[in-house]
Amino acid sequence: MSETQYELNVGLEVHVELATASKMFCRCKTKFGDPPNTNVCPVCMGLPGALPVANEEAVRLGVMAALALNCRVNLSSRFDRKNYFYPDLPKAYQISQFEEPLAVSGYVELASGKRIRIRRLHLEEDAGKSMHAGDDITTASYSLLDYNRSGVPLAEIVSEPDISSPEEAREYLEKMQRTLRFAGVSDVKMEEGSMRVDCNVSVRRKGEAQMGVPVELKNLSSFRAVTRALAYEYDRQSRLIEQGKRIARETRHWDEDKGVTVSLRAKESSQDYRYFPDPDLPRLELDEAFIESVQRAMPRLPNQVVDFYVNVLGLPKYDAEVLTVDPNLVKFFDRCVELGGEPKPVSNWLMGDIMAYMNAKGLSYDTIPVTPENLVAMLGLIKDGVISGKIAKDVLIKMFETGKAPGDIVKEEGLEQVSDDASLSVIVDSVIAANPEVVAQFKAGKDKVLGFLVGQVMKASKGRANPAKVNIMLREKILS
Ligand SMILES: [Zn+2]
Repeated sequence: MSETQYELNVGLEVHVELATASKMFCRCKTKFGDPPNTNVCPVCMGLPGALPVANEEAVRLGVMAALALNCRVNLSSRFDRKNYFYPDLPKAYQISQFEEPLAVSGYVELASGKRIRIRRLHLEEDAGKSMHAGDDITTASYSLLDYNRSGVPLAEIVSEPDISSPEEAREYLEKMQRTLRFAGVSDVKMEEGSMRVDCNVSVRRKGEAQMGVPVELKNLSSFRAVTRALAYEYDRQSRLIEQGKRIARETRHWDEDKGVTVSLRAKESSQDYRYFPDPDLPRLELDEAFIESVQRAMPRLPNQVVDFYVNVLGLPKYDAEVLTVDPNLVKFFDRCVELGGEPKPVSNWLMGDIMAYMNAKGLSYDTIPVTPENLVAMLGLIKDGVISGKIAKDVLIKMFETGKAPGDIVKEEGLEQVSDDASLSVIVDSVIAANPEVVAQFKAGKDKVLGFLVGQVMKASKGRANPAKVNIMLREKILS
């Protein structure tokens, strides 16, 4: 089978929990991880007669998300009921937006310049959470239900089927996650379920005008799961087409352990949900002034920060991309520069030793184990020749572990670079005396061997000698 004859078309539906303190239509807390069924009330339990009231902060964050993703916000939109029966949905309908969503026509731009179009962004409420007894949802004998999540505000962001590879899907999701995190609308954590992804995947022969039959993928709990599941589906569907078989319009479940998708049920169409306007809620009417106020309050987004780092601070694009992975990291870096740290050395230490340490310890970017003040002070010590870059690596580890200022650590441990001529002279003399053959080679014009002698002096001084000075002193002593 020649796989290159086939083309993949993927549209993504991303749900993000909006970072409000209370739920979409009632005043219950939205806190993650509280004991089951403690943040509930008649509204989010769907008790008869309870009336929903839209949360203004959720609307504000939804508009913020829409603007951050280049969408056009509709001044008038509407809440609808999406009807279906499932135990985690106590009202037997979900309040969502169907025909008139909050926002339309946005996009996410990939590094290649390709734009993945966003069809719509709408507000809705989350369902509760079912926990099935046993790992296999097809054989579990009973389920437990937690309604704490029921009614938590969500923005659903639906893309056009513009994504044509698993890698593009991943980049789209990473860019969206970063943008929404910087905009402050959600903490967008896949592992806590505050960002969830469903895929609509179809495959067709290249050049064919009509799209293939869409298959919906569920249970994608990480970006890695998304890319693996898409690669698997591309393979499966192109093989079926090759064999002249039909592709079923269905919902498939990604099995992470086996690395396969399995058929779950025939895919619902929108008619199945019998949408109609929610009679308990008025239309959502916004005015231009409100949208402008949200736009003005928009924090700097990753693309703007990258531009600033490259064009104003002179950082390489690579550094700028790495530093904008998280808003806390950006805040840290900006503070260092504000304190007088030179951008490139700050970036080098952040991307190198600091990130390596954080990765090893599993720390997140809101707990960077050193203060900007101390990092800048350490860079100052290197610049002034008080310590070498090599010693600084050890000092940094002690800063992580003790929280002490680098100057204090250097003093307490006697780590100052040895620069004074008298002390250096003694060590240099001893190295010259111990290596007569190498010294002779250097005298005979073999310049390269000087590096070896410098290394010996560094070793004898336990890394504390000032290498520039050692270099000069060795030349003077040998050649004079
Ligand atoms: Zn409630």
